Amino acid sequence: MNGATHASSGAVKEDRLWQRHADMAKLGGTPKGGVNRQALSPEDAAARNLLASWAKARGFSVSTDAIGNLFVRREGTDAHADPVMSGSHMDSQPTGGRFDGMYGVLAAFEALEALEDAKAKTKRPVIAVAWTNEEGSRFQPGAMGSAVFAQRYELDEMLQQKDWKGVVLKEALAETLKAAPAPMRTGLPGFALAGYVEAHIEQGPRLENEKKTIGVVTAIQGSRRYIVTVDGEEAHAGTTPRAARKDAYAAATRIASAMYEATTDKDDTLRFTIGRVEVSPGSPNTVPGKAVFTIDMRHPDNDVLAAHEKKLYDIVKSKAAPCPASIERVTNVPPTNFDTGVIDLVRDAANNLKLTNMDMPSGAGHDAMHIATLCPAGMIFVPCERGISHNEIENATPSDLAAGTRVLVEVLEKLANR
Ligand SMILES: [Zn+2]
Repeated sequence: MNGATHASSGAVKEDRLWQRHADMAKLGGTPKGGVNRQALSPEDAAARNLLASWAKARGFSVSTDAIGNLFVRREGTDAHADPVMSGSHMDSQPTGGRFDGMYGVLAAFEALEALEDAKAKTKRPVIAVAWTNEEGSRFQPGAMGSAVFAQRYELDEMLQQKDWKGVVLKEALAETLKAAPAPMRTGLPGFALAGYVEAHIEQGPRLENEKKTIGVVTAIQGSRRYIVTVDGEEAHAGTTPRAARKDAYAAATRIASAMYEATTDKDDTLRFTIGRVEVSPGSPNTVPGKAVFTIDMRHPDNDVLAAHEKKLYDIVKSKAAPCPASIERVTNVPPTNFDTGVIDLVRDAANNLKLTNMDMPSGAGHDAMHIATLCPAGMIFVPCERGISHNEIENATPSDLAAGTRVLVEVLEKLANR
């Protein structure tokens, strides 16, 4: 590797990329500096129009598909070669930040512009994509557009989803595409890809704490959710001696504290959360007759999740007496392990560009987890201030955003020429 190979990544313009973030942040901008640009809202349509106008100004083609994913395409020299793709989402949480998702879309678009400015020829077309409804805050489930593209969710079922006001997604999508028209792709929702790379802010504090600029994302952790139910016996709080009590909440706390202990791993990778506890009948002077709590557990390694699941089940059995208790698994989303070839390309590009970097799994889910089922895929993380995300004060620096984009350009160029 030498300096001459950096022509395209050297064409990344930090100011242009930062200005595009500022322009997009006005669409659904909130007084606290964040955005409220929920999926298939008028603000989402405005963002689509703005991206499409920039694309047309550069001579890139724009198209959409049946779930509203937006594609910006720069042609390659071989019109029949499967394209490589990069992008993320433009929708936000109701009190979201200006970088979550939008960075990945704008980094991909900047990559197209940098290739154009460097007059780089690639064999394969390169596509910047904005996936529909990643956040899942208005319409459930999240990461919908990428999941439909990957044929993991049924298009027809998704079109029938309703928001909390009862608006059907199909109608919101039609409104959006009327306000932000783009040529419709025909055929199946998805098409063949030669590779996919998604840039995203980290949404956690590790890069900042370790003073690294680039996160080489190796995996998206798997998650499992459980409900624990403990049955007790309601009794008078003043008159019932300890030996006669079947206190459901006391048993639940014994179970919970044993679980916290069993899930405290040395390297702090396992995530264990009890986020909701319900105690009934909920009277201050009645011994609780029932306690129900939820568990959310995440880790990048499915074997670790399985081993800890067994521990959780054993604890429920051993710590509940004298109360009967049960545990039920309600969801199981396996981890995504990114393609080792793409992981290596990301790490090599960061090293070539002399950017500090570290391998890391993603704590949050991303569109890349669905696209990784279609083609070799990976992700690039850049730091965000204090790891704060899903918050209007979410922040990142222009130079980190540009650094991640330079890595992205190098990786896309390699993928698009092989
Ligand atoms: Zn996101």
